[in-house]
Amino acid sequence: MSVDMNSQASDSNEDDFGPNSEEEEEEEVGEEEDQGDIADYYEGVASDVEQQGADAFDPEEYQFTCLSYRESQKVLSEDVNRVASTLKVSPAVAKLVLVHFQWRVSVILERYKSSSSQLLCEAQVQPSTCRSMAVSTHSFQCGVCLQLVRKEALLALPCQHSFCKACWEQHCTVLVKDGVGVGISCMAQDCSLQMPEDFVLPLLHGDELKDKYRRYLFRDYVESHFQLQLCPGADCPMVIQVQEPRARRVQCSRCGEVFCFMCRQMYHAPTDCGTIRKWLTKCADDSETANYISAHTKDCPKCNICIEKNGGCNHMQCSKCKHDFCWMCLGDWKTHGSEYYECSRYKENPDIVNQSQQAQAREALKKYLFYFERWENHSKSLQLEAQTYQRIQEKIQERVMNNLGTWIDWQYLQNAAKLLAKCRYTLQYTYPYAYYMESGPRKKLFEYQQAQLEAEIENLSWKVERADSYERGVGEGELSANDRGDLENQMHIAEQRRRTLLKDFHDT
Ligand SMILES: [Zn+2]
Ligand SMILES: [Zn+2]
Ligand SMILES: [Zn+2]
Ligand SMILES: [Zn+2]
Ligand SMILES: [Zn+2]
Ligand SMILES: [Zn+2]
Repeated sequence: MSVDMNSQASDSNEDDFGPNSEEEEEEEVGEEEDQGDIADYYEGVASDVEQQGADAFDPEEYQFTCLSYRESQKVLSEDVNRVASTLKVSPAVAKLVLVHFQWRVSVILERYKSSSSQLLCEAQVQPSTCRSMAVSTHSFQCGVCLQLVRKEALLALPCQHSFCKACWEQHCTVLVKDGVGVGISCMAQDCSLQMPEDFVLPLLHGDELKDKYRRYLFRDYVESHFQLQLCPGADCPMVIQVQEPRARRVQCSRCGEVFCFMCRQMYHAPTDCGTIRKWLTKCADDSETANYISAHTKDCPKCNICIEKNGGCNHMQCSKCKHDFCWMCLGDWKTHGSEYYECSRYKENPDIVNQSQQAQAREALKKYLFYFERWENHSKSLQLEAQTYQRIQEKIQERVMNNLGTWIDWQYLQNAAKLLAKCRYTLQYTYPYAYYMESGPRKKLFEYQQAQLEAEIENLSWKVERADSYERGVGEGELSANDRGDLENQMHIAEQRRRTLLKDFHDT
Protein backbone atom coordinates (compact mmCIF):
# COMPACT_ATOMS: atom_id res chain seq x y z
CA MET A 1 0.00 0.00 0.00
CA SER A 2 2.68 2.42 0.99
CA VAL A 3 4.38 1.80 -2.30
CA ASP A 4 1.40 3.22 -4.11
CA MET A 5 1.34 6.25 -1.95
CA ASN A 6 5.01 6.93 -2.34
CA SER A 7 5.06 6.66 -6.07
CA GLN A 8 2.13 9.00 -6.08
CA ALA A 9 3.96 11.44 -3.89
CA SER A 10 7.07 11.61 -6.00
CA ASP A 11 5.02 12.30 -9.11
CA SER A 12 3.84 15.70 -8.13
CA ASN A 13 6.47 16.63 -5.61
CA GLU A 14 7.09 20.34 -5.80
CA ASP A 15 7.77 21.19 -2.22
CA ASP A 16 10.24 23.81 -1.07
CA PHE A 17 10.93 22.38 2.29
CA GLY A 18 13.66 19.88 1.67
CA PRO A 19 13.45 16.14 1.65
CA ASN A 20 12.99 15.82 5.40
CA SER A 21 9.57 17.32 5.87
CA GLU A 22 7.43 14.34 5.07
CA GLU A 23 4.21 15.66 6.52
CA GLU A 24 4.39 18.88 4.65
CA GLU A 25 5.18 16.99 1.50
CA GLU A 26 2.16 14.82 1.84
CA GLU A 27 -0.11 17.72 2.44
CA GLU A 28 1.24 19.73 -0.44
CA VAL A 29 0.87 16.80 -2.75
CA GLY A 30 -2.65 16.24 -1.53
CA GLU A 31 -3.62 19.74 -2.42
CA GLU A 32 -1.99 19.91 -5.76
CA GLU A 33 -3.61 16.73 -6.65
CA ASP A 34 -7.05 17.84 -5.64
CA GLN A 35 -6.76 20.73 -7.92
CA GLY A 36 -5.62 18.63 -10.79
CA ASP A 37 -8.49 16.23 -10.27
CA ILE A 38 -11.04 18.95 -9.86
CA ALA A 39 -9.87 20.65 -12.98
CA ASP A 40 -10.21 17.43 -14.96
CA TYR A 41 -13.57 16.48 -13.55
CA TYR A 42 -15.24 19.78 -13.21
CA GLU A 43 -14.17 22.06 -15.92
CA GLY A 44 -16.55 24.96 -15.79
CA VAL A 45 -18.62 23.76 -12.86
CA ALA A 46 -16.63 25.50 -10.15
CA SER A 47 -15.99 28.56 -12.25
CA ASP A 48 -18.38 30.76 -10.31
CA VAL A 49 -16.09 30.44 -7.31
CA GLU A 50 -13.10 31.41 -9.39
CA GLN A 51 -14.88 34.39 -10.82
CA GLN A 52 -15.39 35.76 -7.35
CA GLY A 53 -11.73 36.64 -7.33
CA ALA A 54 -10.48 33.84 -5.12
CA ASP A 55 -6.81 33.48 -5.76
CA ALA A 56 -5.06 30.50 -7.17
CA PHE A 57 -2.14 30.92 -4.83
CA ASP A 58 -2.18 30.00 -1.16
CA PRO A 59 -1.78 33.10 1.04
CA GLU A 60 -0.17 30.90 3.66
CA GLU A 61 2.68 29.82 1.44
CA TYR A 62 5.92 30.62 3.21
CA GLN A 63 9.50 29.68 2.51
CA PHE A 64 11.56 28.31 5.34
CA THR A 65 14.44 25.94 5.97
CA CYS A 66 14.96 23.52 8.84
CA LEU A 67 18.52 23.64 10.15
CA SER A 68 20.23 21.10 12.37
CA TYR A 69 22.26 22.29 15.35
CA ARG A 70 25.44 22.12 13.29
CA GLU A 71 23.94 23.96 10.34
CA SER A 72 22.66 26.77 12.50
CA GLN A 73 26.05 27.09 14.21
CA LYS A 74 27.51 27.57 10.76
CA VAL A 75 24.98 30.27 9.87
CA LEU A 76 25.78 32.09 13.10
CA SER A 77 29.54 31.87 12.80
CA GLU A 78 29.53 33.32 9.30
CA ASP A 79 27.94 36.47 10.71
CA VAL A 80 30.29 36.45 13.70
CA ASN A 81 33.41 36.25 11.55
CA ARG A 82 32.24 39.02 9.31
CA VAL A 83 31.44 41.41 12.14
CA ALA A 84 34.55 40.50 14.14
CA SER A 85 36.90 41.19 11.26
CA THR A 86 35.22 44.45 10.22
CA LEU A 87 34.90 45.83 13.75
CA LYS A 88 38.30 44.43 14.74
CA VAL A 89 36.92 42.83 17.90
CA SER A 90 37.07 39.29 19.24
CA PRO A 91 34.40 36.82 18.06
CA ALA A 92 32.94 36.80 21.59
CA VAL A 93 32.48 40.57 21.53
CA ALA A 94 31.13 40.42 17.97
CA LYS A 95 28.43 38.04 19.21
CA LEU A 96 27.29 40.53 21.84
CA VAL A 97 27.09 43.27 19.21
CA LEU A 98 25.14 40.94 16.95
CA VAL A 99 22.69 40.04 19.71
CA HIS A 100 22.10 43.70 20.43
CA PHE A 101 21.17 44.32 16.79
CA GLN A 102 19.19 41.05 16.31
CA TRP A 103 21.97 39.83 14.00
CA ARG A 104 21.17 42.44 11.37
CA VAL A 105 24.68 42.51 9.94
CA SER A 106 23.95 45.20 7.38
CA VAL A 107 22.69 47.55 10.10
CA ILE A 108 25.81 46.92 12.17
CA LEU A 109 28.18 47.57 9.28
CA GLU A 110 26.26 50.72 8.36
CA ARG A 111 26.38 52.00 11.93
CA TYR A 112 30.05 51.11 12.20
CA LYS A 113 30.86 53.35 9.24
CA SER A 114 29.27 56.40 10.87
CA SER A 115 30.62 55.88 14.39
CA SER A 116 32.44 52.81 15.59
CA SER A 117 32.79 53.72 19.26
CA GLN A 118 29.17 54.76 19.57
CA LEU A 119 28.18 51.40 18.14
CA LEU A 120 30.28 49.52 20.68
CA CYS A 121 28.97 51.63 23.56
CA GLU A 122 25.39 51.13 22.51
CA ALA A 123 25.91 47.37 22.37
CA GLN A 124 27.39 47.63 25.90
CA VAL A 125 30.68 46.03 25.09
CA GLN A 126 32.73 49.19 25.55
CA PRO A 127 32.38 51.71 28.37
CA SER A 128 31.53 55.29 27.51
CA THR A 129 34.76 57.32 27.87
CA CYS A 130 33.70 59.42 30.86
CA ARG A 131 32.94 56.34 32.93
CA SER A 132 36.31 54.65 32.55
CA MET A 133 38.02 57.84 33.72
CA ALA A 134 35.93 58.15 36.84
CA VAL A 135 36.75 54.73 38.21
CA SER A 136 39.59 54.17 40.57
CA THR A 137 41.50 51.08 39.53
CA HIS A 138 44.45 51.28 41.86
CA SER A 139 42.96 49.84 45.02
CA PHE A 140 43.88 46.27 45.72
CA GLN A 141 40.58 45.59 47.33
CA CYS A 142 37.79 43.55 45.77
CA GLY A 143 34.66 45.69 45.48
CA VAL A 144 32.37 42.83 46.44
CA CYS A 145 34.00 40.87 49.28
CA LEU A 146 36.21 43.81 50.36
CA GLN A 147 39.21 41.51 50.81
CA LEU A 148 42.62 42.80 50.06
CA VAL A 149 44.23 40.79 47.30
CA ARG A 150 47.28 40.91 45.11
CA LYS A 151 46.70 43.08 42.07
CA GLU A 152 47.15 40.12 39.71
CA ALA A 153 44.24 38.38 41.36
CA LEU A 154 41.82 41.12 40.33
CA LEU A 155 39.89 40.82 37.08
CA ALA A 156 38.04 43.54 35.18
CA LEU A 157 36.13 44.08 31.98
CA PRO A 158 37.11 47.10 29.82
CA CYS A 159 35.16 49.28 32.28
CA GLN A 160 37.98 48.60 34.76
CA HIS A 161 35.67 47.64 37.62
CA SER A 162 37.98 45.19 39.38
CA PHE A 163 36.86 42.28 41.51
CA CYS A 164 38.58 39.19 42.78
CA LYS A 165 38.41 36.03 40.75
CA ALA A 166 36.39 34.16 43.37
CA CYS A 167 33.65 36.80 43.29
CA TRP A 168 33.49 36.76 39.50
CA GLU A 169 33.29 32.98 39.60
CA GLN A 170 30.43 33.03 42.04
CA HIS A 171 28.59 35.71 40.09
CA CYS A 172 28.78 33.75 36.84
CA THR A 173 28.05 30.37 38.40
CA VAL A 174 24.88 31.57 40.09
CA LEU A 175 23.56 33.18 36.91
CA VAL A 176 24.37 30.25 34.63
CA LYS A 177 22.74 27.85 37.07
CA ASP A 178 19.72 30.14 36.84
CA GLY A 179 19.56 29.69 33.07
CA VAL A 180 21.24 32.90 31.96
CA GLY A 181 23.33 32.79 28.78
CA VAL A 182 23.74 36.14 27.09
CA GLY A 183 23.18 39.03 29.46
CA ILE A 184 25.68 38.50 32.29
CA SER A 185 27.03 41.95 33.04
CA CYS A 186 29.68 43.60 35.20
CA MET A 187 29.19 43.33 38.96
CA ALA A 188 29.65 47.04 39.62
CA GLN A 189 26.48 48.91 40.46
CA ASP A 190 25.07 50.91 37.57
CA CYS A 191 27.45 49.24 35.15
CA SER A 192 25.78 47.17 32.47
CA LEU A 193 28.82 46.28 30.44
CA GLN A 194 28.28 42.80 29.00
CA MET A 195 30.61 39.92 29.72
CA PRO A 196 31.79 38.23 26.53
CA GLU A 197 31.64 34.44 26.59
CA ASP A 198 35.43 34.08 26.54
CA PHE A 199 35.52 36.04 29.81
CA VAL A 200 32.83 33.91 31.43
CA LEU A 201 33.90 30.42 30.34
CA PRO A 202 37.21 30.23 32.27
CA LEU A 203 35.31 31.29 35.41
CA LEU A 204 32.96 28.32 35.29
CA HIS A 205 34.05 25.09 36.98
CA GLY A 206 33.37 21.71 35.48
CA ASP A 207 32.37 20.57 32.02
CA GLU A 208 28.73 20.24 32.98
CA LEU A 209 28.38 23.89 33.86
CA LYS A 210 30.37 24.98 30.82
CA ASP A 211 28.12 22.90 28.56
CA LYS A 212 25.06 24.37 30.17
CA TYR A 213 26.37 27.85 29.50
CA ARG A 214 27.11 27.00 25.87
CA ARG A 215 23.57 25.66 25.42
CA TYR A 216 22.02 28.81 26.89
CA LEU A 217 24.24 30.95 24.68
CA PHE A 218 23.14 29.06 21.60
CA ARG A 219 19.50 29.44 22.62
CA ASP A 220 19.96 33.18 23.13
CA TYR A 221 21.84 33.67 19.88
CA VAL A 222 19.09 31.93 17.93
CA GLU A 223 16.31 33.70 19.81
CA SER A 224 17.83 37.10 19.19
CA HIS A 225 18.37 36.41 15.48
CA PHE A 226 15.60 38.00 13.41
CA GLN A 227 15.67 35.22 10.81
CA LEU A 228 15.97 32.21 13.11
CA GLN A 229 13.62 30.50 15.51
CA LEU A 230 14.12 27.46 17.74
CA CYS A 231 11.67 24.63 17.29
CA PRO A 232 9.35 24.65 20.34
CA GLY A 233 9.04 20.84 20.20
CA ALA A 234 10.15 19.05 23.36
CA ASP A 235 13.95 18.74 23.43
CA CYS A 236 14.16 19.42 19.72
CA PRO A 237 17.43 21.06 18.62
CA MET A 238 16.18 22.14 15.20
CA VAL A 239 16.18 25.76 14.06
CA ILE A 240 13.87 27.27 11.45
CA GLN A 241 15.45 29.81 9.11
CA VAL A 242 13.51 32.30 6.99
CA GLN A 243 14.41 35.25 4.83
CA GLU A 244 11.56 37.48 5.85
CA PRO A 245 10.27 37.01 9.40
CA ARG A 246 6.47 36.85 9.41
CA ALA A 247 3.63 35.34 11.42
CA ARG A 248 3.38 32.27 9.22
CA ARG A 249 3.01 28.54 9.59
CA VAL A 250 6.26 26.60 9.79
CA GLN A 251 6.86 22.95 10.54
CA CYS A 252 9.89 21.23 12.00
CA SER A 253 11.20 18.48 9.75
CA ARG A 254 12.52 16.48 12.68
CA CYS A 255 9.72 16.39 15.26
CA GLY A 256 6.82 17.57 13.10
CA GLU A 257 5.86 20.48 15.38
CA VAL A 258 3.75 23.11 13.62
CA PHE A 259 3.95 26.67 14.91
CA CYS A 260 3.91 30.37 14.09
CA PHE A 261 7.37 31.60 13.13
CA MET A 262 6.98 34.93 14.93
CA CYS A 263 5.66 33.87 18.32
CA ARG A 264 6.35 30.10 18.41
CA GLN A 265 2.81 29.45 19.62
CA MET A 266 0.22 27.31 17.88
CA TYR A 267 -0.27 28.66 14.39
CA HIS A 268 -3.13 31.13 14.48
CA ALA A 269 -4.03 32.76 11.14
CA PRO A 270 -5.97 34.98 10.58
CA THR A 271 -5.50 36.20 14.16
CA ASP A 272 -2.21 38.01 14.81
CA CYS A 273 0.37 37.02 17.43
CA GLY A 274 -0.59 39.65 20.02
CA THR A 275 -4.31 39.00 19.75
CA ILE A 276 -4.01 35.25 20.08
CA ARG A 277 -1.89 35.65 23.21
CA LYS A 278 -4.53 37.97 24.66
CA TRP A 279 -7.30 35.54 23.74
CA LEU A 280 -5.59 32.46 25.19
CA THR A 281 -4.87 34.33 28.42
CA LYS A 282 -8.47 35.41 28.63
CA CYS A 283 -9.71 31.86 28.02
CA ALA A 284 -7.41 30.53 30.74
CA ASP A 285 -8.61 33.21 33.18
CA ASP A 286 -12.29 32.68 32.41
CA SER A 287 -12.20 28.90 32.15
CA GLU A 288 -14.56 28.55 35.13
CA THR A 289 -17.20 30.73 33.51
CA ALA A 290 -16.92 28.93 30.22
CA ASN A 291 -17.01 25.42 31.64
CA TYR A 292 -20.74 25.04 31.82
CA ILE A 293 -21.24 25.28 28.07
CA SER A 294 -19.22 22.21 27.20
CA ALA A 295 -22.13 19.87 26.64
CA HIS A 296 -21.85 16.63 24.70
CA THR A 297 -25.57 16.19 24.36
CA LYS A 298 -28.40 18.52 23.40
CA ASP A 299 -32.09 17.98 22.81
CA CYS A 300 -33.58 17.95 19.35
CA PRO A 301 -35.38 21.31 19.08
CA LYS A 302 -38.35 19.62 17.41
CA CYS A 303 -39.03 16.31 19.17
CA ASN A 304 -36.85 16.87 22.26
CA ILE A 305 -35.08 13.53 22.04
CA CYS A 306 -31.59 13.68 23.51
CA ILE A 307 -28.91 13.78 20.82
CA GLU A 308 -25.25 13.02 21.27
CA LYS A 309 -22.73 14.58 18.93
CA ASN A 310 -20.12 12.08 17.79
CA GLY A 311 -18.96 13.64 14.53
CA GLY A 312 -17.33 16.95 13.76
CA CYS A 313 -20.09 18.27 11.55
CA ASN A 314 -22.38 20.87 13.12
CA HIS A 315 -25.20 20.16 10.71
CA MET A 316 -27.18 17.68 12.80
CA GLN A 317 -30.00 15.41 11.79
CA CYS A 318 -32.28 14.03 14.47
CA SER A 319 -32.24 10.25 14.33
CA LYS A 320 -35.91 10.12 15.30
CA CYS A 321 -37.78 12.91 13.53
CA LYS A 322 -35.12 13.64 10.87
CA HIS A 323 -35.20 17.33 11.66
CA ASP A 324 -32.08 19.14 10.37
CA PHE A 325 -30.69 21.61 12.85
CA CYS A 326 -27.54 23.45 13.88
CA TRP A 327 -25.60 22.12 16.86
CA MET A 328 -24.32 25.60 17.79
CA CYS A 329 -27.53 27.61 17.87
CA LEU A 330 -30.15 24.83 17.59
CA GLY A 331 -31.71 26.78 14.72
CA ASP A 332 -33.18 25.17 11.62
CA TRP A 333 -30.37 24.12 9.25
CA LYS A 334 -32.35 25.60 6.37
CA THR A 335 -31.29 29.03 7.63
CA HIS A 336 -27.63 27.96 7.45
CA GLY A 337 -27.13 27.94 3.69
CA SER A 338 -24.12 29.97 2.60
CA GLU A 339 -26.35 32.81 1.36
CA TYR A 340 -27.86 33.62 4.71
CA TYR A 341 -25.54 32.01 7.21
CA GLU A 342 -25.85 34.05 10.38
CA CYS A 343 -24.81 31.56 13.01
CA SER A 344 -21.23 32.84 13.31
CA ARG A 345 -22.17 36.50 13.72
CA TYR A 346 -22.69 38.03 17.13
CA LYS A 347 -25.44 40.63 17.15
CA GLU A 348 -24.34 43.40 19.47
CA ASN A 349 -26.88 45.45 21.32
CA PRO A 350 -26.56 48.93 19.74
CA ASP A 351 -28.07 50.65 22.77
CA ILE A 352 -25.78 49.07 25.34
CA VAL A 353 -23.75 52.24 26.13
CA ASN A 354 -26.88 53.83 27.56
CA GLN A 355 -27.61 50.99 29.94
CA SER A 356 -26.54 50.19 33.49
CA GLN A 357 -23.09 48.91 34.31
CA GLN A 358 -24.58 45.59 35.27
CA ALA A 359 -26.30 45.27 31.93
CA GLN A 360 -23.03 46.14 30.22
CA ALA A 361 -21.13 43.50 32.18
CA ARG A 362 -23.77 40.94 31.30
CA GLU A 363 -23.56 41.91 27.64
CA ALA A 364 -19.74 41.63 27.69
CA LEU A 365 -19.96 38.14 29.16
CA LYS A 366 -22.60 37.12 26.65
CA LYS A 367 -20.43 38.31 23.81
CA TYR A 368 -17.37 36.48 25.12
CA LEU A 369 -19.30 33.26 25.61
CA PHE A 370 -20.69 33.48 22.11
CA TYR A 371 -17.20 33.56 20.62
CA PHE A 372 -15.70 31.16 23.12
CA GLU A 373 -18.41 28.57 22.51
CA ARG A 374 -17.73 28.61 18.77
CA TRP A 375 -13.97 28.56 19.27
CA GLU A 376 -14.30 25.54 21.57
CA ASN A 377 -16.80 23.80 19.35
CA HIS A 378 -14.60 23.97 16.26
CA SER A 379 -11.69 22.72 18.29
CA LYS A 380 -13.79 19.72 19.33
CA SER A 381 -14.96 19.23 15.77
CA LEU A 382 -11.31 19.08 14.72
CA GLN A 383 -10.72 16.25 17.18
CA LEU A 384 -13.81 14.37 16.08
CA GLU A 385 -12.90 14.82 12.44
CA ALA A 386 -9.43 13.49 13.21
CA GLN A 387 -11.20 10.30 14.33
CA THR A 388 -13.14 10.28 11.08
CA TYR A 389 -9.83 10.56 9.26
CA GLN A 390 -8.53 7.53 11.15
CA ARG A 391 -11.64 5.58 10.26
CA ILE A 392 -11.27 6.52 6.62
CA GLN A 393 -7.68 5.31 6.67
CA GLU A 394 -8.71 1.99 8.16
CA LYS A 395 -11.55 1.57 5.74
CA ILE A 396 -9.35 2.27 2.75
CA GLN A 397 -6.86 -0.25 4.01
CA GLU A 398 -9.63 -2.81 4.37
CA ARG A 399 -10.97 -2.12 0.90
CA VAL A 400 -7.55 -2.35 -0.68
CA MET A 401 -6.91 -5.65 1.08
CA ASN A 402 -10.19 -6.95 -0.34
CA ASN A 403 -9.21 -5.79 -3.81
CA LEU A 404 -11.83 -3.07 -3.86
CA GLY A 405 -9.67 -0.56 -5.69
CA THR A 406 -6.17 0.70 -4.95
CA TRP A 407 -4.90 3.37 -2.60
CA ILE A 408 -4.90 5.78 -5.50
CA ASP A 409 -8.60 5.16 -6.11
CA TRP A 410 -9.40 6.07 -2.53
CA GLN A 411 -6.93 8.79 -1.88
CA TYR A 412 -9.40 11.57 -2.67
CA LEU A 413 -11.31 10.62 0.51
CA GLN A 414 -8.18 10.95 2.54
CA ASN A 415 -7.42 14.27 0.86
CA ALA A 416 -10.93 15.51 1.61
CA ALA A 417 -10.50 14.75 5.31
CA LYS A 418 -7.13 16.49 5.35
CA LEU A 419 -8.45 19.56 3.61
CA LEU A 420 -11.39 19.63 5.98
CA ALA A 421 -8.99 19.76 8.95
CA LYS A 422 -7.01 22.58 7.38
CA CYS A 423 -10.13 24.65 6.69
CA ARG A 424 -11.65 23.96 10.09
CA TYR A 425 -8.41 25.02 11.78
CA THR A 426 -8.49 28.40 10.05
CA LEU A 427 -12.18 28.73 10.92
CA GLN A 428 -11.47 28.12 14.60
CA TYR A 429 -8.92 30.94 14.62
CA THR A 430 -11.34 33.38 12.97
CA TYR A 431 -13.26 33.59 16.26
CA PRO A 432 -10.63 35.35 18.41
CA TYR A 433 -10.04 37.64 15.46
CA ALA A 434 -13.72 38.57 15.25
CA TYR A 435 -14.01 38.93 19.02
CA TYR A 436 -11.40 41.69 19.18
CA MET A 437 -12.38 43.35 15.93
CA GLU A 438 -14.00 46.78 16.08
CA SER A 439 -17.45 47.08 14.55
CA GLY A 440 -17.58 48.70 11.17
CA PRO A 441 -17.57 47.85 7.49
CA ARG A 442 -14.38 45.81 7.77
CA LYS A 443 -15.86 43.63 10.46
CA LYS A 444 -18.97 43.22 8.32
CA LEU A 445 -16.85 41.99 5.44
CA PHE A 446 -14.92 39.69 7.75
CA GLU A 447 -18.09 38.21 9.20
CA TYR A 448 -19.48 37.73 5.74
CA GLN A 449 -16.44 35.77 4.64
CA GLN A 450 -16.31 33.86 7.90
CA ALA A 451 -19.96 32.85 7.44
CA GLN A 452 -19.30 31.71 3.88
CA LEU A 453 -16.31 29.67 5.00
CA GLU A 454 -18.22 28.12 7.87
CA ALA A 455 -21.18 27.16 5.70
CA GLU A 456 -18.93 25.44 3.16
CA ILE A 457 -16.92 23.67 5.84
CA GLU A 458 -20.05 22.20 7.38
CA ASN A 459 -21.16 21.10 3.92
CA LEU A 460 -17.79 19.48 3.38
CA SER A 461 -17.85 17.82 6.79
CA TRP A 462 -21.35 16.49 6.09
CA LYS A 463 -20.18 15.00 2.81
CA VAL A 464 -16.99 13.52 4.24
CA GLU A 465 -18.90 11.83 7.05
CA ARG A 466 -21.37 10.40 4.59
CA ALA A 467 -18.75 9.32 2.08
CA ASP A 468 -17.02 7.61 4.97
CA SER A 469 -20.11 5.69 6.00
CA TYR A 470 -21.18 4.53 2.53
CA GLU A 471 -21.04 0.79 2.29
CA ARG A 472 -20.84 -0.15 -1.31
CA GLY A 473 -21.61 -3.54 -2.78
CA VAL A 474 -18.80 -6.03 -3.18
CA GLY A 475 -16.83 -5.67 -6.35
CA GLU A 476 -17.48 -1.98 -6.68
CA GLY A 477 -14.31 -0.12 -5.84
CA GLU A 478 -15.52 3.46 -5.67
CA LEU A 479 -18.32 5.77 -4.87
CA SER A 480 -20.17 6.74 -7.99
CA ALA A 481 -18.37 9.33 -10.06
CA ASN A 482 -21.13 11.76 -9.11
CA ASP A 483 -20.62 11.41 -5.38
CA ARG A 484 -16.92 11.70 -5.76
CA GLY A 485 -17.20 14.70 -8.05
CA ASP A 486 -19.61 16.33 -5.65
CA LEU A 487 -17.18 15.88 -2.77
CA GLU A 488 -14.27 17.20 -4.77
CA ASN A 489 -16.22 20.20 -5.87
CA GLN A 490 -17.08 20.92 -2.25
CA MET A 491 -13.39 20.66 -1.31
CA HIS A 492 -12.53 23.17 -3.94
CA ILE A 493 -15.16 25.65 -2.80
CA ALA A 494 -14.20 25.38 0.87
CA GLU A 495 -10.51 25.86 0.13
CA GLN A 496 -11.21 28.87 -2.06
CA ARG A 497 -13.24 30.44 0.75
CA ARG A 498 -10.38 29.84 3.14
CA ARG A 499 -7.86 31.42 0.81
CA THR A 500 -10.04 34.43 0.14
CA LEU A 501 -10.44 35.10 3.84
CA LEU A 502 -6.73 34.75 4.55
CA LYS A 503 -5.79 36.85 1.56
CA ASP A 504 -8.00 39.69 2.77
CA PHE A 505 -7.40 39.46 6.49
CA HIS A 506 -4.08 37.82 7.21
CA ASP A 507 -1.47 40.09 5.81
CA THR A 508 0.59 41.14 8.75
ZN1 LIG B 1 35.89 39.40 45.98
ZN1 LIG C 1 31.81 47.62 35.02
ZN1 LIG D 1 11.36 20.09 16.14
ZN1 LIG E 1 2.33 34.19 16.03
ZN1 LIG F 1 -36.00 15.19 16.55
ZN1 LIG G 1 -26.42 27.78 13.91
